[in-house]
Amino acid sequence: MYGSSIGWTDHTFNPWIGCSHVSEGCENCFAETDNKRYRWNGGKWGPGALRKLTSEEYWKQPLRWNKAAATAARRPRVFCASLADVFDPEAPVGARERLWNLILETPNLDWLLLTKRPQNFTTMLPNRWAAYQNVWLGVTCENRKNGFPRVDILRRTPAVIRFLSCEPLLEDLSGINLQGIDWIICGGESGHHAREFRYEWARNLRETCVGKNFFMKQLGSFVPINLLKGEKRDPHGTDVSHFPVDLQVQTWPR
Ligand code: SF4
Repeated sequence: MYGSSIGWTDHTFNPWIGCSHVSEGCENCFAETDNKRYRWNGGKWGPGALRKLTSEEYWKQPLRWNKAAATAARRPRVFCASLADVFDPEAPVGARERLWNLILETPNLDWLLLTKRPQNFTTMLPNRWAAYQNVWLGVTCENRKNGFPRVDILRRTPAVIRFLSCEPLLEDLSGINLQGIDWIICGGESGHHAREFRYEWARNLRETCVGKNFFMKQLGSFVPINLLKGEKRDPHGTDVSHFPVDLQVQTWPR
């Protein structure tokens, strides 16, 4: 029915394409790799590289999704953004403001804004932020050093739903404070250079999520040395039945 290959969303929307590395979670940024190949913004990535506004036709898509959603059985989710970061200070001039307007024009959609730059919330969220009842706000938490301070900022920021993307999960997150957080997405890294991902890190996280929604997205491409003979692997989470039974958990808020 919907158009995204990411299991926890229905659609993805990129207001522009281009970004810069922020932390360890960016090391194998798939958007950067794909941009090198497809040259969406000329092929460069990083500070000073072009952030290319997506086309006018592309920007009309959410309006169509919104119209269709008026009679849908549930509210579609729109992930923004997979090839950029909404809170990037190098965003094209006026693009973020345009996005805020689009979000208000599409009240039948839930917009999932995920960032590694929550320190910019105070200056970049729109003036009438309380009116944005269709935005779920999220931060990436790939490890303790980078993730925990982001979670603290997120917790202090008003939002109808607050969520974490713990992908690529790079270490055990024992001690994470999930107060005020509604939803936790967990996943191992995919791709040729995937870093280690241990099931016990995901299990510990899931056990910490008592009373929260937990979404085990993917196991990633790293092959554990203790992989059982014949054990199925599913790097991208296309078949949840290939996850260890206790990690076959995928719930959403609302
Ligand atoms: S913040 Fe996201 S899009 Fe930007 S470089 Fe890092 S992983 Fe890539």
